[in-house]
Amino acid sequence: MGIMFDKFRDECGVFGIFGHPEAANLAYLGLYALQHRGQESAGIVASDGVQLRHRKAMGYVHEAFDADALAKLPGTMAIGHVRYSTAGESKLSNAQPIVIDSIHGQFAIGHNGNLVNAGEVRDALVREGAIFQTNSDTEVVVHLFARSRAGGIEAAIAEAISQVRGAFSFVMLTKDRVIGVRDPHGFRPLALGRLGDAWVICSETCALDLINASYVRDVEPGEVVIASAAGLKSIKPFAPAPLAQCVFEHVYFARPDSYVFGESVNEVRTDLGRRLARECPAEADVVVPIPDSGVCAAVGYADASGIPMRMGLIRNHYVGRTFIEPQQSIRHFGVRVKLNPVRSIIAGRRVVLVDDSIVRGTTSRKIVRMVRGAGAKEVHMRISCPPTISPCFYGVDTPRRSELIAATHTLEQIRKYLDADSLGYLSLEGLTAGVRGGRSRYCTSCYTGVYPVAFPRDEAAYLQLALKLNGEASTPERAPAIPQSELENDPVAS
Ligand code: AMP
Repeated sequence: MGIMFDKFRDECGVFGIFGHPEAANLAYLGLYALQHRGQESAGIVASDGVQLRHRKAMGYVHEAFDADALAKLPGTMAIGHVRYSTAGESKLSNAQPIVIDSIHGQFAIGHNGNLVNAGEVRDALVREGAIFQTNSDTEVVVHLFARSRAGGIEAAIAEAISQVRGAFSFVMLTKDRVIGVRDPHGFRPLALGRLGDAWVICSETCALDLINASYVRDVEPGEVVIASAAGLKSIKPFAPAPLAQCVFEHVYFARPDSYVFGESVNEVRTDLGRRLARECPAEADVVVPIPDSGVCAAVGYADASGIPMRMGLIRNHYVGRTFIEPQQSIRHFGVRVKLNPVRSIIAGRRVVLVDDSIVRGTTSRKIVRMVRGAGAKEVHMRISCPPTISPCFYGVDTPRRSELIAATHTLEQIRKYLDADSLGYLSLEGLTAGVRGGRSRYCTSCYTGVYPVAFPRDEAAYLQLALKLNGEASTPERAPAIPQSELENDPVAS
């Protein structure tokens, strides 16, 4: 789901299960495994065949639910949702799944992704008298569903989802059905699993592993799967569209023990590290991953380069992701709280630091300085994806273009800012060669600024986008440069 009027980009995890006596408990466990996809709020809706009951709360899954809360969600069907934390809009009203009563009966929906025409659809609905309760893009789907005069729930769902565009992996629940939907571009992942006779639908296969379910296949791009007493039905209500699977799921977002878009994230990430080593070699003594995000790529880098990998940075696992912190000053502090260098591994050595990506550069800079402080002779930064130059509007939380260091700085300027002896990014060719099917199956807009799904004019204006849509060039948005003084000194170094 996205937020339309405060901040619209966020990441989420979805889970659904049909036909299990402990549906809500398993949804809880599924969400637990998907916690990395969203830490702001969690919600579960269950159906006992007669009635939908739900609970949503702020915080981690284990904070949002206890045994008593789960016991109040009886039934053999359930869906769940975890939502990512973003600054300034931590509101329970934006938590999902959204649950409503309609002419078609009770209905609940959880969304991973971001709709690009939600504002347009919403304006039209508001003009016709619709009242919105949240500022989430997902709510437009609920309205479209509730207003549909199509005969039957499935037809109403098909009618609703064919009016929205963008990135959406949905799980839906009615009193007797669990439904999974993946947009025709296949932006976000959605997997189908089996647990005995029960069907499971979830963002990533790591959720299947935890509940001992088997991975059957992915929900296909453009596919709607409906689990009911009649079995599993598949329909394809969308016109065919070019594939645009999110390459960043493989680079960073998905858990490395998941299969995403039919491939092991771990294998892809490790291979990206090998490619990185071949493209950007370094004369060094030790490869050190930035945990946890750089671990798989570092394994690959060490493998291909022959330089031994050591865990030269140790992460404190009881600190939230630094990215969550809303203020820069806290984030800087957070790096120190989160990571500690191991002197015995680093001191006197030429170190290759490997991470998956650089966003603002602020965390990476702190880490380089910390590694230098631990006595490294040289620090060579290697990144297992190309420079991130454009925000994501399809469901990954990225800052504004002006805050993306690579959008406005050359490689050499970034190297200098990071205070690294050398800096190397994997090329776009290297990245797309590392995923099955290559570039034609993937969205790479964060690295290219080319957006595969067009935004309506108003939405683009609202998003302050200067877009290259489907390869059509347009004027890039200018972002302020980092002042030279900041390139020389670190004003917040401690
Ligand atoms: P920065 O110093 O701001 O460039 O942050 C870089 C770190 O942020 C890397 O370790 C990345 O793994 C991590 N990162 C990249 N994208 C995201 C994201 N969308 N959400 C959270 N962390 C991210």
